[in-house]
Amino acid sequence: MIEELLIYQNADAKLRKIETELSGSEARKKAVSAKKFLEGVEQNVDKLDARAAKLLDVYEKALDEQEKIQEFQTEFASALKDAGNSSELSYLMKKADEVTVKIRALAAKINKLAEEIQAVMKEYVAIKSNTKAAQAQYAENAKKYNDLKTSYKDEKESAERELEELKKKVDPALMERYLKKRAAKIYPVIYEVRENVCGACNMELPMSEINRLKNGEVIECSQCGRLLYRKK
Ligand SMILES: [Zn+2]
Repeated sequence: MIEELLIYQNADAKLRKIETELSGSEARKKAVSAKKFLEGVEQNVDKLDARAAKLLDVYEKALDEQEKIQEFQTEFASALKDAGNSSELSYLMKKADEVTVKIRALAAKINKLAEEIQAVMKEYVAIKSNTKAAQAQYAENAKKYNDLKTSYKDEKESAERELEELKKKVDPALMERYLKKRAAKIYPVIYEVRENVCGACNMELPMSEINRLKNGEVIECSQCGRLLYRKK
């Protein structure tokens, strides 16, 4: 019963090798990283849009403030013309100083705002050019990856056909357990137990499991998830 599965696992190495070469290929890695970037672009643009909207709001408020100061300056000029005595004049001069401070603060605020707006614009430009680069990288490498897949097609199909044949000889329940592990990218799946430890990860097995092995059962290592058997 185990023998047939071991033969299957041995032949499965060919399929595993093809899969590893495809998934580990430079073309696939580059295509995946480009795709990941492209998937994140929308979110980044949304964040930037939110920042831009906030900046615009602050900018509009600064403009309102500026308008108010301009109105005040007009009033101030006519008040200055109509000032009758020195106490009125000194009051107006004090007001003028206050306004000067406000104007300076506002100018600094507007400058800072302009810098921030500039930075947001730069980010938009960067996202745009990075997106273009990622699109090109994806297109180029997706094609390369497809070509690579095509080049392995015959070899892969022949390995799969061989496995289909070998599968018929393996106990179906055991085969199912094997394939489940295999689908989770575990390979080799089945190991022989050495002394009382897992043949794959060296974990010491509990007595109950060793007894099951002695009964000819195939157990699962609780540490590495491999299937374990004991030679009769
Ligand atoms: Zn183990």
